[in-house]
Amino acid sequence: MKLRKVSVAIATGLTLSLTLAACGGDSGSDSGGGKDKITVGIKFDQPGLGLKTPEGKYTGFDVDVATYVAKELGYEAKDIVWKQAPSAERENLIRNGDVDFVAATYTINDKRKAEVDFAGPYFLAHQDLLVRTDETGITKPEDLNSKKLCSVTGSTSAQNVKEKLAPKADLQEFGGYSECLTGLENKAVDALTTDDSILAGFAAQKEHQGKFKLAGLKMSDEPYGIGLKKGDKELRDKINKALEKMQSDGSWEKFVSANFGPANYKNDPAPKITETS
Ligand code: GLU
Repeated sequence: MKLRKVSVAIATGLTLSLTLAACGGDSGSDSGGGKDKITVGIKFDQPGLGLKTPEGKYTGFDVDVATYVAKELGYEAKDIVWKQAPSAERENLIRNGDVDFVAATYTINDKRKAEVDFAGPYFLAHQDLLVRTDETGITKPEDLNSKKLCSVTGSTSAQNVKEKLAPKADLQEFGGYSECLTGLENKAVDALTTDDSILAGFAAQKEHQGKFKLAGLKMSDEPYGIGLKKGDKELRDKINKALEKMQSDGSWEKFVSANFGPANYKNDPAPKITETS
């Protein structure tokens, strides 16, 4: 999908400028072959949303949404190159052209819209807390002001805590979620905060069963969008069309029950597409 301009010097000293189709990504299998691939940024560590399994498979709601969108853009599943898009890296990956689009629990907001464009939203989550099953001292956001809290760098969740929810909380930020889960289990932290959709997936993981619970506080709205390069109106319009079709043909419902059903997550209805200009 990405076009890269390269200069080729030939023996005569003449320099030819050629435009070649070239693709980046993790697999390396597509490099230089001129075959059309699409590179998509997802999370690798969020069960139910974006997960790279030990067998090297990609699963989750965002993976299903991205696969559907890619298909509508003309790419089969085998032509997708999945690239890890940690929260703090998403804008960079898009800006640098390392990915064609991002589907990674990516909340649409004005700060991010100054750097990238969004299609969607295609899902509405809410910020919540994951605490140990026996926790009784955290029932409202203000309780966090005297607690140790964990979140992920570059996420809206960390920002919300610092700016409004509990400015006095002892907030520890990591690059991914596994550090927070370990900390919660061994009592280095008292709560992990991010979207309820993500937390439900962690709570339902086999190795965590019975250990954690969601507090059930809807502390914010987190509308997920597909992030893409700023100004690429054509791509945004195509993705919005794909997202609309995904809802109207029943695929959205199918992806929701397949991915959130096992975690018993009660999701909001499909949101209206609003990122149109
Ligand atoms: N949806 C929130 C965000 O975009 C939190 C989850 C995440 O970090 O991906 O920041």
